[in-house]
Amino acid sequence: MIREGRVATGPVSPRRWRHHHLHRPDDPRAADYAYTDVVAHLDDVESFTDAGYGLAPRRLEVTDPQHRLLLTLTGTALGGRAIGDPERTGVYVGASVSEYKDLLTSRVRAGQMAAGDLGEPLDPEAARAAVSGVVPMRAFTMAGALLNLTAATISSAFDLRGPSLVVDAACASSLLAVHEAVGHLRTGQVDLAVAGGVYLNLVPDNLVAFSRIGALSRAGACRPFDRRADGFVLGEGAAVVLLKRLDDALRDGDPVYGVIRGTGCANDGRADGPMTPRLEGQVAALRRAYDDAGVEPYTVGFVECHGTATPAGDRVELAALREVFGGGVHVSSVKANIGHALPASGIAGLVKTLLVLRHGVIPPQPGCAEPIPRLADFRLAQRPEPWAGPRRAAVNSFGFGGTNVHLVLDEGSPDAALPGPAPAGGRRYWAVTPGLDPDPPGPSRGLLEAIAAASDHPVEALRPDQALVADLGFDSLMLLDLEEKLGLERLPPELVQRTTTIGDLQAWVAARAEAPADPWPEVAAFAERRGLPQRLGLPNPYFVAHDAALGATTTVDGVELVDFSGYDYLGLATDPRVVAAAREAVERYGTSVSASRLTSGERPPHRELERAIAGLLGAEDALAMVSGYATNVSVLGHLLAPGDLVLHDAYAHDSIVQGIRLSGATRRAFPHNDLAALEEALSEQAGRHRRVLVAVEGVYSMDGDLADLPALADLRRRYGFLLYVDEAHSIGVLGRTGRGAGEHWSISPSDVDIWMGTLSKALASCGGYVAAGAALVDYLRYTTPGFLFSVGLPPAATAAALAAVRTLAAEPERVERLRANTARFRTAAAAHGIDTGGGTAPVIPVRAGGSAEALRLSERMRQRGVNVQPIVAPAVAEEAARLRFFVNATHTAEQIDQTVEALRLSR
Ligand code: PMP
Repeated sequence: MIREGRVATGPVSPRRWRHHHLHRPDDPRAADYAYTDVVAHLDDVESFTDAGYGLAPRRLEVTDPQHRLLLTLTGTALGGRAIGDPERTGVYVGASVSEYKDLLTSRVRAGQMAAGDLGEPLDPEAARAAVSGVVPMRAFTMAGALLNLTAATISSAFDLRGPSLVVDAACASSLLAVHEAVGHLRTGQVDLAVAGGVYLNLVPDNLVAFSRIGALSRAGACRPFDRRADGFVLGEGAAVVLLKRLDDALRDGDPVYGVIRGTGCANDGRADGPMTPRLEGQVAALRRAYDDAGVEPYTVGFVECHGTATPAGDRVELAALREVFGGGVHVSSVKANIGHALPASGIAGLVKTLLVLRHGVIPPQPGCAEPIPRLADFRLAQRPEPWAGPRRAAVNSFGFGGTNVHLVLDEGSPDAALPGPAPAGGRRYWAVTPGLDPDPPGPSRGLLEAIAAASDHPVEALRPDQALVADLGFDSLMLLDLEEKLGLERLPPELVQRTTTIGDLQAWVAARAEAPADPWPEVAAFAERRGLPQRLGLPNPYFVAHDAALGATTTVDGVELVDFSGYDYLGLATDPRVVAAAREAVERYGTSVSASRLTSGERPPHRELERAIAGLLGAEDALAMVSGYATNVSVLGHLLAPGDLVLHDAYAHDSIVQGIRLSGATRRAFPHNDLAALEEALSEQAGRHRRVLVAVEGVYSMDGDLADLPALADLRRRYGFLLYVDEAHSIGVLGRTGRGAGEHWSISPSDVDIWMGTLSKALASCGGYVAAGAALVDYLRYTTPGFLFSVGLPPAATAAALAAVRTLAAEPERVERLRANTARFRTAAAAHGIDTGGGTAPVIPVRAGGSAEALRLSERMRQRGVNVQPIVAPAVAEEAARLRFFVNATHTAEQIDQTVEALRLSR
């Protein structure tokens, strides 16, 4: 149902209550009435039997069906498995109301009405007659109505003797129950936890109460993240999961649907009101969960949101997610399918997330045809999207009273079979757990439908008692259900020639059903993001063709603009000596070296350039490669290996992150420039890894601030790690003579193990380099795949970079001009109250307050004659979207002043 995006809402059935008395669609303010009659109710809550748990009929009559529902589900989840140690098995239930209790006590209330306790006395006869359908109070009524018995009934029925408790955090209750269970498992108080949540809506009270708040959809449709969202549809239900420590589950051969990596819980504290969600509280729960999990939020691909479709709720939740994730992640809410089951909603979200992890399909989000603008930062599936592993997801939940819970989950073992009974009578049969399947007569209905869909076979032909699949192209016959009542015995034995396992069938279904209609759903998702400038009525700021070299100015469509979009910091890319050197190299060596340098691609300027770079940095040797990006990827990817640890600044360039990923080393980001956090990670990880490398940048390319190299060198001496410094934006820029971060900070070149840099910025060319000890560089020269198996730098690029290094050495005053220009820009901006961050480098960020605003601001600047690029989410967090100015040495004072003035007028 989730995969197909189906919605299970409908009018209140008269079997629940006669709703028409209470229904005032045209008068949303009428006290004691509801403006909606749409709910998502289970079909048949009356006839859950005691299912063999030993509850006497007279007790059952006065027992909240919430107890029975949880009992049945616990039995299903256990699937006949023996419980290891009942003393160490706990039950954790999220529940917050027993509406059955309100029914059971109505005879007493009628007596009070007759007595006049609540207003004018009622005729005693009439009052008694009015509640004659209600079972009189009995001894078991008390137990049947107590909320804690939702958990205790399970403990009793299965004789479980660990903790047994009900937690109430309103709509966050069931996820809080899971959080508590995880805590008890971790501290070793229990070995097995039954965790779940329940809500049955048996009286109209909540529909009336939520009508007063305006939280229910007047349109009768729950549309999370949609412009038309006007609240939720009240749902109900229950679910149960079994939790174990992973090692125990693997040892016991249990099917692992998912692995809870971490949980976080926080209350909003003093909020604007008991029902007003608070951004800070939600962010705190998320952060705690990721700290607990020890994983970075951006590794999560899917978040099952609380997603109530109330405008305030969705707004705060997306803002919290954006603060922590930056954006980019898939968001979803099962409330659109099954309504809002209040205390049980979190466990419904968890079950859905486990299915997403298990099947590797992100289901479509019903009800969201017109996403709200905030959603532009996130992804939302409109049709089932395949999701290749490894998969990591999260579930979010919050409730009235301000408790927020967040869970981080990884996929479970891919080959785990669903629980099924043992082979009987030499024949292997299997059954599928019903889970949240709405259709009890066919426990395996979801699977049947998947088979039907994959084989173009009509579903009708696959009723369980016809569960013979010979005509589906199988060479074997399979039995799709076990339960006697489904006609197993009636199935002609001669037809059962062979049976198969569920694993085989699942693989078959997965292979057939998951062949996606659109093989590139990410392309469709990207089209959304790509369309942002157009939606704002702005020209596309990307891939603009310039008719001239980028210097202090540029020309676009015949219009000259002052340019701040290129990182030719010293203005050398158009310097006559550099251009002449490139031209001469082309004439002498041609346009390409036509081979890897190892084989026939080496030309004299290659080594000259590498020696010049090594000389500039005071390193023993250097190696130059065809791209700066590829230099980080190939060098880090090649040098490091699984078993190593890399700690990198959270703002490190993508090429650094990708290189580490390629290597298989363990990767941990520390908060930007937070060396205390780095030191904490170093001492925590001490001795656990073969090698530890710390990667930072001389100048950070988004904020123009610097890594504190002396402090890092000091840490390096104390902890003995390898230090890797990317000087893409600091070589030619920092230091009195442009020798980079080492010169700026006056550290010894040997305080850094590997200096990396690019030729594409101050060095006016294209390519990257690493400089280090001679033996290490020699090793890289003969073994780095991205160098060995790739062509050598082209002659023109090599000669241009070499000429740039020489010009830099000959004319250090260029660096001084760059510094003066940078200072002028920052000072002028400050004089106008424009914040340029705390940096000192010629990369100058000016925050715009959001992606859309950054795009608009960039366009206004262009209209005032200045070319500066907007940086939008997900490159930076949404609220950090900005303009980024690259100042260079050839900008004039007037150009800088004019630009700051244009900025003042445009903001
Ligand atoms: N490292 C950093 C810090 C960068 O900013 C960049 C690109 N701007 C690179 C590496 C990649 O360099 P290139 O563009 O020369 O490939």
